[in-house]
Amino acid sequence: MTTIQVHDKKFIPFIAAADLQARVKEMAQQLSHDLRGERPLFIGILNGSFMFAADIFKYLSIEAEISFIKLASYKGTKSTGNVITAIGLEEDLFGRTVVIVEDIVDTGKTLSQFLPQLEHQQPKKMMVVSLLHKPEAMTHPVKIDYLGYTVPNKFLLGYGLDYDGLGRNLPEIYQLAE
Ligand code: 5GP
Repeated sequence: MTTIQVHDKKFIPFIAAADLQARVKEMAQQLSHDLRGERPLFIGILNGSFMFAADIFKYLSIEAEISFIKLASYKGTKSTGNVITAIGLEEDLFGRTVVIVEDIVDTGKTLSQFLPQLEHQQPKKMMVVSLLHKPEAMTHPVKIDYLGYTVPNKFLLGYGLDYDGLGRNLPEIYQLAE
């Protein structure tokens, strides 16, 4: 792996593709162990999680379903502030074991607003799987049940994560060079 340029910025190698695959496989094995017999519904949050969600789902050894949603933020009223809504969720979550799949939890704002909306549907259990987490950036605490890597508060690229639309196809993860 070498330094790459995307748009106007330089990025340095951070996590190799083989290491990512090994870690994702490990996480899938743990989930398969913990959720056997539950027929969980995985919900991947687009766009960033598409690659991680596909890989972790591929490595599961239990019966499971997967669906994807996109989150949109719009300006609410003065009292609600910005409101987050899910586009594309057709499944009924009532009584289901639901696994939310995120690429990265940064400030925690997105999930802390969105998870309570899903709770309204009264799933049996709801858990969060995130490949990456930046604890230093967290302003809205979110419980992450399965975490791939704790990372420093620096901008990351690759394996689904983009910089202005590019870099999602990279099989490894890069960090913005200082
Ligand atoms: P949060 O609401 O937790 O601050 O934001 C989470 C979302 O911000 C992630 O799902 C991701 O789309 C985006 N994000 C946070 N950190 C990074 C990063 O380092 N690189 C990229 N490409 N996206 C990030």
